Amino acid sequence: MWIVPEAKIAGLMDRATCFAAIEGVFGAMARGDAYNFPVIREAIGHADALYGFKSGFDRAGLALGLKSGGYWPGNEAKGLTNHQSTVVLFDPDTGRVKALVGGNLLTALRTAAASAVSIKHLARPDAKVLGMVGAGHQSAFQMRAAVEQRAFEKVVGWNFHPEMLDRLAGVAAELGLPFEAVSLDELGAQSDVIITITSSHKPILRSAQVKAGTHIACMGTDTKGKQEVDDLLVARATVFTDEVAQAISIGECQHAIASGLMAEAEIAELGAVINGSHKGRTSAEEVTLFDGTGVGLQDLAVAAAVVELAIAKGIAIEVDF
Ligand code: NAD
Repeated sequence: MWIVPEAKIAGLMDRATCFAAIEGVFGAMARGDAYNFPVIREAIGHADALYGFKSGFDRAGLALGLKSGGYWPGNEAKGLTNHQSTVVLFDPDTGRVKALVGGNLLTALRTAAASAVSIKHLARPDAKVLGMVGAGHQSAFQMRAAVEQRAFEKVVGWNFHPEMLDRLAGVAAELGLPFEAVSLDELGAQSDVIITITSSHKPILRSAQVKAGTHIACMGTDTKGKQEVDDLLVARATVFTDEVAQAISIGECQHAIASGLMAEAEIAELGAVINGSHKGRTSAEEVTLFDGTGVGLQDLAVAAAVVELAIAKGIAIEVDF
C-alpha cells in the first residue's frame, strides 16, 4: 500500500487537478456511476470529539474507500488542527488497502473546488463582485478557487466575528483584488456570486438582501441544525446540490424542506448540469443556489488523484501490508 502523509499534500495537489476531480465525480454521481454510503457521525463522549466517516464507491473512476475523522475542539491548544481526517482507499477488485492519505488539506481543497464547480456552471458569465460570508479557515481556500471561475473585479465580505475579516482582506490582496468589509445589506446588493462558509446555526443572509441573478454557494451547512441563509432564499432560488439525500438531511435545504417551502423534487444535482441533462441557469435574473454538503466521493476523488501524483513524483511511501 501507499502512504501519502499530510505534510506532502501541499506540494502535490494544485487547484486545477482538484477542480477536475470534483467536476468529474459530481458528473459520475449524476450518471449513477458513483454513490455515497450513509454518513456516520457520532459524539464519542471523549475529548468533546465528533467522529465519523464518509464513504462511497465510484464505479467509473474505481475509487473505493472512506474518509474518517472529525472535530477535536481541544486540539488547537495542543498546536494541532481541530478538524482531523484521513482517507483510506481500497482496491475495488480485491478489497486490499491501496493507500492511506492525509485528509486535512484535501478537505479544504475539495470543498473549495465544489463551490468553484458550481460557479463555473451556474453563475452569470458577467459576474464581477464576489461576496464572502465567513472568514474562518475554509474561507481563504474558497476565495482562491472562486476567483478562477469569473473575471471578478472586487471582493466584499461580512463575518459574524469582524476581527477575522483580516483573513479575507489578506487573501484578496494576494489575488490582486480590492476588498471591502460591508454590511449584509450591502453585500447582497453588490454581489453577483456569494459564498457562505460559516458554522452558523441561524440564518445569516436573507432573501430580501439578495439581488436578482445572484449565484449563492452555501458551503458551511454540513450538519443537522446548521443554517446560513433563510428558508425564503432557498425557496426562491433554483437549487442544486452535490447529493439530494444529504441536502435535505444535513444541508441548507433541510430547513426549507421542514418548513414546507420546497419539495425534494425541486432540488437538482449539480452533476446533471455538468453532464448536460439539466439546463442549469436559464435567465440572467434567476437566483441559483448550490447546497454543498460535502460527500465522501469528493474525498475519494481528490485522494485518488493525489496518490497518482505522489507515485509519479516518487513521494508516496510504499509499505508492505
Ligand atoms: P472556522 O472555525 O475556521 O470558522 C468558522 C466561521 O463561522 C467563522 O467565519 C466564524 O466567524 C463563523 N461563525 C462562528 N460562529 C458563528 C455564529 N454563531 N454565527 C455566524 N457565524 C459564525 O471553520 P471553517 O473550517 O472555516 O469551516 C466553516 C464551516 O464549513 C463549518 O461549519 C464546517 O463544518 C463547514 N465545512 C463544510 C464542508 C463541506 O463540504 N460543505 C467542508 C469543510 C467544512
